[in-house]
Amino acid sequence: MNLHEYQSKEILAKYGVNIQRGFIANTVEEAEAAAKKLTEMNGNEGWVVKAQVHAGGRGKGGGVKFSPNMEKLKENAGNIIGMQLVTPQTSAEGKKVNFVLVAEDVYYPGETETKEFYVSILLDRAQGKNMIVYSTEGGMDIEHVAEVTPHLIHNEVVDPCVGLQGFQARKIAFNLGLEGAAFKDFVKFITNLYSAYVGIDASLFEINPVLKTSDNKIIAVDAKVSLDDNALFRHKDLAELRDTREEDPTDVEAGEAGLNFVKLDGDVACMVNGAGLAMATMDIIKLSGGNPANFLDVGGTADAERVQKAFGIILKDPNVKAILINIFGGIVRCDRVAQGVVDAYKAMGSLPVPLIVRLQGTNAVEAKELIDHSGLPVHSAITLEEAANKVKEVLGH
Ligand code: GDP
Ligand code: MN
Repeated sequence: MNLHEYQSKEILAKYGVNIQRGFIANTVEEAEAAAKKLTEMNGNEGWVVKAQVHAGGRGKGGGVKFSPNMEKLKENAGNIIGMQLVTPQTSAEGKKVNFVLVAEDVYYPGETETKEFYVSILLDRAQGKNMIVYSTEGGMDIEHVAEVTPHLIHNEVVDPCVGLQGFQARKIAFNLGLEGAAFKDFVKFITNLYSAYVGIDASLFEINPVLKTSDNKIIAVDAKVSLDDNALFRHKDLAELRDTREEDPTDVEAGEAGLNFVKLDGDVACMVNGAGLAMATMDIIKLSGGNPANFLDVGGTADAERVQKAFGIILKDPNVKAILINIFGGIVRCDRVAQGVVDAYKAMGSLPVPLIVRLQGTNAVEAKELIDHSGLPVHSAITLEEAANKVKEVLGH
């Protein structure tokens, strides 16, 4: 699960990580109020308006705008709220910006130069350890840095059993070329950042840029946090931060129905129980000359309600030319599944595409009989080969 920048920053702040402060705003009036509040806090004019969407590269797409005065701030907020933001990480149509974060300007002039670094923390599955990836070349183009000057990107592997050690934090600060107060502040920054990563069961932290301010403070200017979905059950408060507006509506619906669904771009939809069988079914569809339109694992209970939900989700895709149901009845009996399919079909009245049903396992024969006598235009099959041939037939191959 991904979080918004403002949510990520709030979490970091709780762990003692210095952040660029800000308030969210849904309207221009709220943006103005947020800016005034920030000025009361830091005594400065100058803010940055930041689109809150689940995508990086917002700066490049015009979703992050520095605003030196209130006029500019209102203009920028007005333009960004409601805009369709296209960045290198979104589709061509972009993402709708529902609200913005109005943040304090932290690039103010001072004694020393500001410097932007890159810091991320992630799980290295190959080593079974956490890894801190960092670079002196922070800012907006880390992908470019990785491609052209990969030697400027460093790794520090952290053993989760002992956590981030002091010498490691100091080594990172040293490699970033920091000294004096900034060095000390960075050690604190990275130590607290690592605690936050572990504390909330994150799978990814990306802080780009981490800023060294002109008065030698270390601040998270941007923050992207991904949480490990498998650990969300022990973070009820974090689970509530989910913004479903940022997710694909079909994925959200499938998730709520307890269906494991991944949309693909083929023409034969499938509905299967078990991930392994779903993969095999997709292979069979390919072999019969079609292309899978989705991966869909309905799990252990294929009753009428679930089958109907699954039909609904599958049929949202206009490319679908046929549906193949392939269920193995081990614990769940095939005749019950067949009844579920028949009931769901009847409840829906009709289906716009041919339906092929293959049920194998406990009570498979009864199931086939049930479907054949349902009076519905359903093609039933018992072997996988038969099912594949039926798919071929309805596709006209
Ligand atoms: P991203 O483009 O989605 O990664 O969004 P970021 O939050 O990283 O912001 C993009 C860029 O905006 C940063 O790299 C900074 O250069 C700039 N920026 C962010 N905050 C400020 C600020 O307070 N003042 C100024 N002048 N620029 C800022
Ligand atoms: Mn960024």
